[in-house]
Amino acid sequence: MTGSNRKPILKTGALLLCFLLTISGCAQAKRVERASEVGYFFNTIVTITLYDADEALMSDIWDACRRYEKILSKTVEDSDVDRLNRADGSPVTVEPETWSILARAKELSAKTGGAFSVTIAPISALWDFTGGTKRMPSDEERLALLHLIDDSQIELMDHNQVRLPAGMMIDLGGIAKGYIADQIAAMVQPRCAGAICNFGGNVYVIGSKPDGSAFRVGIRDPQGEEGSIKCVLTVRDTSVVTSGVYERWFELDGKVYHHILDPQTGLPSESDVAGATIVTGSSMDADALATACVVLGSAESIKLLESIGLPGLLILRDGSVLTTTDFPYLNN
Ligand code: ADP
Ligand code: MG
Repeated sequence: MTGSNRKPILKTGALLLCFLLTISGCAQAKRVERASEVGYFFNTIVTITLYDADEALMSDIWDACRRYEKILSKTVEDSDVDRLNRADGSPVTVEPETWSILARAKELSAKTGGAFSVTIAPISALWDFTGGTKRMPSDEERLALLHLIDDSQIELMDHNQVRLPAGMMIDLGGIAKGYIADQIAAMVQPRCAGAICNFGGNVYVIGSKPDGSAFRVGIRDPQGEEGSIKCVLTVRDTSVVTSGVYERWFELDGKVYHHILDPQTGLPSESDVAGATIVTGSSMDADALATACVVLGSAESIKLLESIGLPGLLILRDGSVLTTTDFPYLNN
């Protein structure tokens, strides 16, 4: 067979391939006008609303959530976090996602002077903000573990290996939802006209509502009843992340203990910030930094956010609202 004889066969093959791809493209292109579903992942309620989305998108999102929960949750047996926390000083091979989160967590911990520290785990494990037992550590227990909080000691090696010094543990509760929100947003963006993905305090909005208008995200009033809104932000294609002292807490002997711990003391932060909201395309950075702001207090937080160039809004314990100089999302 000569080369000239082969060409038409190749051409016919290419045409057939194009035809088959077009048919399968048509099948995939089936659209859903609006879909809204609620799931429970990462210890929080996850709400996903999609506009003009491809039919398979919603189930792909839940599949991704299941996978992230399996590798990142500290309470799922044999998750990466669980294996790291039981490794007792030995290196552990983790999923690339876990390695990336830890790499960024270390940087954000350094940027916040340790106010954000995923190595808070040995202390956070002594408290129970979710189970209803109102468990709090004794001073001895708490003080004996404080030296284990130091994200700079997390050793990240080649081939997705991680080593924690013996006794050290990690808790990704202050950053994982941000990472997941970023990954889901990247998956959603090319496959729908608009979406609002709410992972507890991490909201990611993509595109616009069917009428072309921007999404509006309500910020909870820390002093009000559950569900009460302090202010509303108008945003497009970005993440709005809020950390607040009202998210998980218990009351004991007339005192309220909440879940954002000051790594210097191992106690719930007592700063003047009741809630911190950060608006940026990186939900992961915003997650860690919003947690840090609650620890750092308003003066330090505004300084930090302005130095990095991130827009933030703080609701103080006295009810007043402070924003960074650049915060174009209110009242528009
Ligand atoms: P939420 O989980 O309610 O969205 P945050 O993003 O502020 O709130 O994260 C708080 C969670 O992070 C806690 O439940 C705990 O797991 C962990 N954590 C608490 N204090 C710190 C801290 N100083 N640095 C890093 N993680 C923290
Ligand atoms: Mg956070």
